[in-house]
Amino acid sequence: MDGGADMTRDTNDRGGREGQGARRDRLIQGHDHDPYRARGKPPEPTVCPECSATFREGRWTWAAGPVDAPRQLCPACQRLRDGYPGGYLTLDGDFLSGHEQDILGLARNVEEREKKNHPLKRIMDVETHENRIVVTTTDMHLARSIGEAIQHAYQGELDLRYSDDEMLLRAHWHR
Ligand SMILES: [Zn+2]
Repeated sequence: MDGGADMTRDTNDRGGREGQGARRDRLIQGHDHDPYRARGKPPEPTVCPECSATFREGRWTWAAGPVDAPRQLCPACQRLRDGYPGGYLTLDGDFLSGHEQDILGLARNVEEREKKNHPLKRIMDVETHENRIVVTTTDMHLARSIGEAIQHAYQGELDLRYSDDEMLLRAHWHR
C-alpha cells in the first residue's frame, strides 16, 4: 500500500511522524468508495445542521434550504467531527522560517476561493511543528490546490501522493 520504489523520496512523511494518518490509510483501503461520499446520498433537499449547506441536484451547495428539510451532516462536517482528513499538505524546508504567515495566508485565501462554490472543500486544521506545518483538508483536491498555489507563488518542490484507492492525498511542499 505504500506505493512503489519511485514514491519513496519523501520518507520523512512516512511511518512514525504521521502514524495516525497511516493507520487511517489502512482503514480506508477496505472500502470500495469514499465512505464520506458513499454515505452521502441523502434525500433532496437535505440541510447540514452544522454548516447549513444544502444537498440539491446531487451536490452540496451554499444555497439556503427549506427550514423543514431533513437534516444530515454534510461529508465535510462529518470529517471534521471524526477528525478524518481527505488531504494532508506538509510544508517544510528552511524557507518556511519567516514565511509561515504569508504561506498560511495564501492557503486560507485558496480555501476561501474554493469553498465559495464547493462547500466540501475546507481546511480542517493547521498543525505547526518545529520546522514543519501540516495542513489538513476535508477534500483531497483542496490540499492539491493549496500546494500548487504555494508552489506557484514561492517555487520549491511539490510532491503529490495519492493512496492506492485515490481517496486520500498526501501532498508535500519543500523549499
Ligand atoms: Zn456541513
